[in-house]
Amino acid sequence: MDAKTCLQKLQYVGVLAFATVDASGNPQIRNISAIHYEPDAIYFFTARGKDFCQELLADGRVQILGYTKYKEMIRLSARAVPVPQEEQRGWIDTIFSEQPYLSNVYPGDTRSIGVVFAIRDAQIEYFHLGVHPILRENYTMGRGSLTPKGYMISEHCIGCGTCARHCPQQCISEGLPFVIQQEHCLHCGNCYELCPVKAVRKRGCCDPN
Ligand code: SF4
Ligand code: SF4
Repeated sequence: MDAKTCLQKLQYVGVLAFATVDASGNPQIRNISAIHYEPDAIYFFTARGKDFCQELLADGRVQILGYTKYKEMIRLSARAVPVPQEEQRGWIDTIFSEQPYLSNVYPGDTRSIGVVFAIRDAQIEYFHLGVHPILRENYTMGRGSLTPKGYMISEHCIGCGTCARHCPQQCISEGLPFVIQQEHCLHCGNCYELCPVKAVRKRGCCDPN
């Protein structure tokens, strides 16, 4: 699995959920299928008057979520940027030629109300719940960077084994400290709640315990 394969899987899913945050800080989510895929980027169409477009122009941050029939979750965290003005019409026509239904929604030249955004830099999370143990991997696209998530075990571990016995995926290896196999971790937090000496920490968190 890699970022390119994740994009191919999203293309098969077809209709993706796009989430933004509005000016009041409220989450906003909608389905988008007017998408063109490149091996290392995606381009999508919306209309200038839509709140979605205004939220992207004001902020640009977006999360895109797809879920395959095989129970694979693929999430892109990215910043969307409008393609240059002189390229807009070409990208609009490309997306309309690939998605014929759009010509019914925006007949004739009404498609010119559209704006095409590009995503070239992203963090991609891949989470496969259809295998055992579950599989989790992270990739980057372009200049995207990875944000650590989940849990890790610190040097305060006393090796009691409580976390490993209660881990639903049996993905904690013995040792001093015990070690979480990040690629199989659900991020459920059971180990975090049960550790008697608070040796389990959230990743990316500076809390010294
Ligand atoms: S429960 Fe805490 S102390 Fe016990 S093995 Fe797990 S991390 Fe270490
Ligand atoms: S967060 Fe859940 S799945 Fe991950 S290591 Fe802890 S108990 Fe196991």
